[in-house]
Amino acid sequence: MSTRSYEVFALRYATLAARTAGENFLFPDDHGAPMPIDYFLWAIRGGGRTIIVDTGFSPDAGVRRGRQFLHSPEAALKAIGIDAASVPDVVISHLHWDHAGNWEIFPGATFHLQDSEMAYATGRCMCHNVFRRAMEVEDVVGAVRNVFAGRVRFHDGTSELAPGVTLHLIGGHSGGQQSVRVATARGWLVLASDATHFWANIRTRNPFPLVVDVARMLEGYRILEALADSPDHIIPGHDPLVLKRFPAVAGHPDIVRVDLPPVA
Ligand SMILES: [Zn+2]
Ligand SMILES: [Zn+2]
Repeated sequence: MSTRSYEVFALRYATLAARTAGENFLFPDDHGAPMPIDYFLWAIRGGGRTIIVDTGFSPDAGVRRGRQFLHSPEAALKAIGIDAASVPDVVISHLHWDHAGNWEIFPGATFHLQDSEMAYATGRCMCHNVFRRAMEVEDVVGAVRNVFAGRVRFHDGTSELAPGVTLHLIGGHSGGQQSVRVATARGWLVLASDATHFWANIRTRNPFPLVVDVARMLEGYRILEALADSPDHIIPGHDPLVLKRFPAVAGHPDIVRVDLPPVA
């Protein structure tokens, strides 16, 4: 690979065991089948750069919604030697409550967001409870405050964040869902975030039921596959299999290296 290659970490910070397939597929085969969901943030490191993807849910939102931290996002990052306070770049894949809390733990960061996600989160779609319920108003207000502080860099479509790290507008799941493509030693990796919650969503073309535009979500699967070197190079946003398929960081079973080849 001609471009620089990065280490990429998936960090699980929460989990929810009491979840069923009916909540994870638009067209479930078996509504009641148990299908737990994990919550992640991701870290990209190499060549003196550190880029974080997503910020996790805030402790308050977790309490309100019945989820608890296994590790705070700050502690998870510290476990791999990253001080959240000094991170320069944070990609917000989208503004859903479980991806865009905790702005304050990154006081030195520029936040990277798609134009269409900000418009979605602050415009007429939020008049509808079905879309609003996946947002925390304080997170969206946090985004606005960071815009006014000059700390948001907006993107419209595809852009390069660093050599070998690009942002890609996918949409579908939210107004401006974006995914991150990263050059690694094993090839082009795509941190899909909620462009596909589980490998099963993209592999069976059966979308997650929280969706703004089903057609765009399905087209998004095609884009993810075109960007990634193989199906195993697409890292889903919430799949417990991620921790099983990739090698853990020594002493940290909730943190895996997705830039390394799968172990199972
Ligand atoms: Zn989401
Ligand atoms: Zn999510």
